[in-house]
Amino acid sequence: MFEAQEQFQEIRDAIKDLCSRFGDEYFRRIDQEQGYPAEFVAALTEAGWLAALIPEEYGGAGLGLTEASVIMEEINRAGGNSGACHGQMYNMGTVLRHGSEAQKQAWLPKIASGELRLQSMAVTEPTTGTDTTRIKTTAVKKGDRYVINGQKVWISRVQHSDLMVLLARTTPLDEVRKKSEGMSIFMVDLREAIDHGLSLRPITNMVNHETNELFFEDLEIPEANLIGEEGKGFKYILDGLNAERTLIAAECIGDGHWFVDRVCDYVGERVVFDRPIGQNQGVQFPIARAHINVEAASLMRYQACSLFDAGRSCGAQANMAKLLAADASWEAANACLQFHGGFGFASEYDVERKFRETRLYQVAPISTNLILSYVAQHVLGLPRSF
Ligand SMILES: Cc1cc2nc3c(=O)[nH]c(=O)nc-3n(C[C@H](O)[C@H](O)[C@H](O)COP(=O)(O)OP(=O)(O)OC[C@H]3O[C@@H](n4cnc5c(N)ncnc54)[C@H](O)[C@@H]3O)c2cc1C
Repeated sequence: MFEAQEQFQEIRDAIKDLCSRFGDEYFRRIDQEQGYPAEFVAALTEAGWLAALIPEEYGGAGLGLTEASVIMEEINRAGGNSGACHGQMYNMGTVLRHGSEAQKQAWLPKIASGELRLQSMAVTEPTTGTDTTRIKTTAVKKGDRYVINGQKVWISRVQHSDLMVLLARTTPLDEVRKKSEGMSIFMVDLREAIDHGLSLRPITNMVNHETNELFFEDLEIPEANLIGEEGKGFKYILDGLNAERTLIAAECIGDGHWFVDRVCDYVGERVVFDRPIGQNQGVQFPIARAHINVEAASLMRYQACSLFDAGRSCGAQANMAKLLAADASWEAANACLQFHGGFGFASEYDVERKFRETRLYQVAPISTNLILSYVAQHVLGLPRSF
């Protein structure tokens, strides 16, 4: 693990270098304008970083999850927000693992080059929330097409995506043996679908995060866009979650380091009562504790990555890394805001922006309660609660 951390210094330096072209002012302006960091995402794409997990035979960098996690960590550590583009890195995993060779050839090289943006994945629905097996969006086979009807909510980056992975029910819930069966995964070509059976309603929210309500009304998609076997979609989604959770853990770790670095700089310089406030143990200890927790979360992240890259099961470690990292970044965010005093609330310090951004990860893409219940049931063997 120690070697791994040293080995990735080259990636860290390259990401730092790229991010230095987009400083605090850039990210602050984008946040204030509720805009999209298009130039930043283009630079990451051109440099090939978002294609890290795509195998070389399909035009990607063929790196492991460990390297991919270092990329995400460094973006957030540099003050950016990977949430604007992390979908491009991991959503293609569904195609890579479960798509046909023809689908991989059609999509992966273009995703790797950035010609096609696969930034979005539509799972959550307004009336069912975390209880995914009860989703109501349906896909009904009609000749060589599927007809989609239903609604999704909180679907991110749709306005900055060409393709979208969609989970829909193909067999009604009361006709399946297990509630996790009868759902399927489709690739939706947003360029054709929007205004032809799919409409969007953007959701303004606390973070500058482009996210939307989606309404499907008789949207027709070709049968060829079904990924893998019909009815196995829920399992396919679960297969992708470990990578997503581990990468988001890495983003939280990057945020955590950013908060600790910023607050250390500030409390070292801010003089109140004739001494730097950082000289007071009441100020030092919460910062030191947050740093310790960020470092501990980082170790669990490396463990999840090592298992994933070795092709071994890592559900427990990916979930634990996500929980530890989201908690640690939130703890660091609170210490950073607190010890900036009133200045923490001023946009020009960027603390309040990062504070809002990192808070999201207690809820999305999975809430901490759901991770706790996963660990209780699947790791500790306690009775299933829902
Ligand atoms: C900015 C943003 C972007 C998002 N992007 C996407 C996206 O791109 N694609 C997508 O599909 N979804 C996306 N989501 C949705 C996100 O994954 C969900 O919000 C999240 O999974 C929680 O679901 P919910 O909001 O329906 O909460 P609910 O399921 O209603 O739960 C609310 C809260 O209740 C608690 N809770 C619920 N059930 C239990 C239980 N059994 N035991 C204990 N506690 C429980 C949890 O703490 C949870 O936070 C996004 C959300 C946000 C806010």
